[in-house]
Amino acid sequence: MPTIGIFALQGDVREHARALEAAGCGAVPVRRPAELAAVDGLVLPGGESTTILKLARTFELLDPLRERIADGLPVYGSCAGMILLADRVDSGGSPLAETIGGLDIAVRRNAFGRQVDSFEEDVAVDGVDGGPVRAVFIRAPWVQELGPAARALGTTRAGQVVAVRQGALLATSFHPEMTGDGRVHAYFCRMVTETAR
Ligand code: GLN
Repeated sequence: MPTIGIFALQGDVREHARALEAAGCGAVPVRRPAELAAVDGLVLPGGESTTILKLARTFELLDPLRERIADGLPVYGSCAGMILLADRVDSGGSPLAETIGGLDIAVRRNAFGRQVDSFEEDVAVDGVDGGPVRAVFIRAPWVQELGPAARALGTTRAGQVVAVRQGALLATSFHPEMTGDGRVHAYFCRMVTETAR
């Protein structure tokens, strides 16, 4: 059984762990480089991307994580996690000094605007069977620009790209850990199982 780490610097770690375990993967918190080195996959939860970035720098996790991503570590980023995985952050939103990177996309932070800081919508996600998932958006980013290496897996009714995949990297603008529907985590658990094999 592969073990998936959950970046436990900020965000809803427990909900991600529950969903991953229900999907048949192990789940452990990651706060130290040695813990990062031991996992087969990693979840970057939502939260505040600037804060997570700062903590990751303090805990000396940034470069080790970049190295593992370059080596093919499967990583799933949700919301702030999507921002951290993006190679570029669109300057129309609040820019970030740097990101972890790996996904050939530009994201726009807080893209849906203040009047709809939080909303839900059903989104069909390519590769997730059984109908659309209930997508919970909380001050969420969207994918402003998709590089040739990245593939859109899901879009809103209005046409914004909110789920992407590029090789071993998966990201969603929304928070599937909050709905009790474990299918996105099951999809990621399958990605990790295939890579770990
Ligand atoms: N707005 C946050 C950011 O820009 C992301 C919000 C979330 O993860 N729910 O980092």
